[in-house]
Amino acid sequence: MPLPDPEIVVLGGGPAGSSAALRLAVDGARVTIVSPPRVPATRLESLPVGGQALCDLPGLRRALDTSAVAVVARRELLWRERPETLEVTRDAPFLIDRARFDRACLAEAIRAGARLETSRARRDGPEIVLEDGRRWHPVAILDARGRRGLRARAPGLPQMVALPFRASDPSGVMRIAAVPDGWLWCAAGPQDRAEGALFCRAERVAGLDATERAALVTEALRSVGLLGAASGTPSAASLDWAETAMPEARVIRIGDRALARDPIAAHGLVHALRSAAQGSAAALTLLEGGNADAVREFVESRHRADVLAAKAVTEAAYASQARIGTGFWSDIARDPRPETASPPQDIDVTRRYALAAPLSRGAALIEGRIRWSPVIEFPASARRATHVGALRAETLTRLIGPPAPLGALLERLETQVPPTVARTIVRELLDGGALSPV
Ligand SMILES: Cc1cc2nc3c(=O)[nH]c(=O)nc-3n(C[C@H](O)[C@H](O)[C@H](O)COP(=O)(O)OP(=O)(O)OC[C@H]3O[C@@H](n4cnc5c(N)ncnc54)[C@H](O)[C@@H]3O)c2cc1C
Repeated sequence: MPLPDPEIVVLGGGPAGSSAALRLAVDGARVTIVSPPRVPATRLESLPVGGQALCDLPGLRRALDTSAVAVVARRELLWRERPETLEVTRDAPFLIDRARFDRACLAEAIRAGARLETSRARRDGPEIVLEDGRRWHPVAILDARGRRGLRARAPGLPQMVALPFRASDPSGVMRIAAVPDGWLWCAAGPQDRAEGALFCRAERVAGLDATERAALVTEALRSVGLLGAASGTPSAASLDWAETAMPEARVIRIGDRALARDPIAAHGLVHALRSAAQGSAAALTLLEGGNADAVREFVESRHRADVLAAKAVTEAAYASQARIGTGFWSDIARDPRPETASPPQDIDVTRRYALAAPLSRGAALIEGRIRWSPVIEFPASARRATHVGALRAETLTRLIGPPAPLGALLERLETQVPPTVARTIVRELLDGGALSPV
């Protein structure tokens, strides 16, 4: 007897697709991953603590445990005027073997009950068309096909490619260095096996053959005192994003397919894992007949906030480079800078403040489903929050109440939370533009 069509289809079996399918299967959905056979990228990637916390299901934790090959104990930065070394004593990122992580995530999703269809697929509106011509009409589609096809890019930020290399580096550190043609990231995994990539403008690499690309890599490594050689093929590495994360009512883009970060700002994997958790909650809400408007508002508002944050952090990372003033970097400095949110204000406790917008209703992720809920608006980051710190949006709005000097607002918050937490909440509200002077 033929198997019933899937309720949810996940396109793409990278970290975003597999982790979303795992979550859906654990929740009992009939989910199929469609992904072509492929050899995953064989490279080391760093996963910060924020990403480790997102591996909150036993299957994801096992995938992380089998693919984490080292913990970053020391970071060296050749970026500003003087070299900097940072001993990482807590909250250390993991170095993970991406090929192992991808395979383990996929295996865990299948173990949890997801089916795998080894095929390329395309979307035809709300339908999935497989290579053999079969068509499915699932309740929801999670599109996790990676960064190919993305176009939008912030003005002033370069189109980047990554040239992978292997190097000999017995120091055991993770390095980030500005070099004349761009920048490089290099990390020493087990047995002093260091791997990394040179990131440079796409135009700089266009038209170069493999030998010329290898020479570019060797030269960049030499400029920071490393010996190594190019390995593997170049890949796209700019900050790119989709204009919408929900191109159709039941189609949700996740991972790089929604927002591919420039690795200068790292956290591509964090975004893949987080958007997969959010996307799978959105798909389950649709599957259970939940509010489709709330799902759309949730997915799109998260997407807008993620794009804004990625633009700001990428721009700030490039702008903070002060070691090299020529080549790639003088071009970057000439580029018009996109506008960023206003810098954080200092806390002046005598000044009177009020909430910039009244308590409003927004879509939120609550207990694994998307629902309408009271939210606080953060105009600077396009964020809408059901909680700030431990305080619910309604409690916070009630406490802040009529405009008052910041000192008085802090005292009101301190009736509910310790003074340090109250200051952190006020800082967050100020930085996000949720509190404004009156
Ligand atoms: C050089 C480099 C270094 C990086 N370093 C880091 C780092 O150190 N830390 C970090 O956090 N991030 C890093 N990133 C970013 C990180 O790799 C990505 O954010 C991550 O791979 C995104 O996962 P994904 O599942 O969204 O996409 P992908 O990993 O690209 O997976 C997409 C999947 O879709 C499949 N697919 C494609 N087309 C189809 C189709 N038509 N039908 C079905 N399936 C399809 C592909 O085969 C693949 O399995 C780096 C990126 C680059 C390029």
